[in-house]
Amino acid sequence: MEVAAAVLHAPGRPLSVESLTLDAPRAGEVLVRVAAAGVCHTDLHLAEGRLGDGRWPMVLGHEGAGVVEAVGPGVAGLALGDRVAFCFVPPCRSCPACGRGRFNLCETAAAHAWAGTLLDGTSRLRLPGGEAVQHCNFVSCFAERCVVPAASAVPIPADLPLRVGALLGCAVMTGVGAVRNAARVAAGESVCVIGCGGVGMQIVSAARLAGASPVVAVDRDAAKLELARSWGATDAVCAADQDAVAAVLRLVPGGVDHAFEAVGLPATMRQAWDVLRPGATAIVVGIAPRGAEVALPALELLSEKGIRGCYYGSANPTVEIGMLARLVADGRLAVGEAVSHVTDLHGIEAAFDRLRRGIGLRTVVVLDEESAG
Ligand SMILES: [Zn+2]
Ligand SMILES: [Zn+2]
Repeated sequence: MEVAAAVLHAPGRPLSVESLTLDAPRAGEVLVRVAAAGVCHTDLHLAEGRLGDGRWPMVLGHEGAGVVEAVGPGVAGLALGDRVAFCFVPPCRSCPACGRGRFNLCETAAAHAWAGTLLDGTSRLRLPGGEAVQHCNFVSCFAERCVVPAASAVPIPADLPLRVGALLGCAVMTGVGAVRNAARVAAGESVCVIGCGGVGMQIVSAARLAGASPVVAVDRDAAKLELARSWGATDAVCAADQDAVAAVLRLVPGGVDHAFEAVGLPATMRQAWDVLRPGATAIVVGIAPRGAEVALPALELLSEKGIRGCYYGSANPTVEIGMLARLVADGRLAVGEAVSHVTDLHGIEAAFDRLRRGIGLRTVVVLDEESAG
């Protein structure tokens, strides 16, 4: 079938909305009519070529939700009409990482994500001339429809609007997973969140849900800090006009139990380290450009401070996205409020520009008004 999609032909070039051929789902795959898709900083990184070469032409978009329209052979547990959120790491459950229970680090999924294919090593997307188009981490939801592995389509409750459910598979899973799985924040522990964008806000929200206190939000934007307060931050530090580390340490003498970095810059990763109490660990969620390095004061390793990455919420994503959907539907996580802008396929470039300038939280691309809710 023909689908309208936003295509990245080369890094640095604007996405072009055009008609592509989408082949039918093969064994273990489903066809989803996309209702809504979130625009994430990772899409911008890919569009600007900062995550490596050879990744185009590609249809971007790895965070979204839609309705199952067709099911390939051998798919169990999904049926026509099911409402689903996309999961951009469909675990194979047989590689060494999956064997260790680290499903977010599935080696099979990582290899195919890097190649831009589905799990059989081929693409369902083609240009009118026949050239294969790469999938973006199995999802490619900046399009009217997409074909994804069954494990990339996670059923979500009927009472959750799909324009809200669209954020589950990246921003929410990443932010909430960092708090639950990577840091394992306990009630009464202190938290500092550096960067209050789409993912940082989910970290603040999840820290509140975990009972953390105080929750110190750090950002350069006063409006985002205001929003962070409304989501459960007990304190806000504006990094634009002061030394953020000194300000956090004034609020939490001795340092925090958990620091989260959701910016993706070496300087803010270092800040996350600098606000820790001895024995605590900084969780880095932000994605830095290739080649960036972080410098740490090595002597402080004596105090047993640590810093670790967290990819996709360190989660078992196909299981946990469904659980998060329930929390969102029950109003326990503030996700709808994270949508600052709504647009269509032609508005993705403007959304990229807002991300570059740090304006707003998530832009949601609505592809099907009726099912998006
Ligand atoms: Zn993302
Ligand atoms: Zn695996």
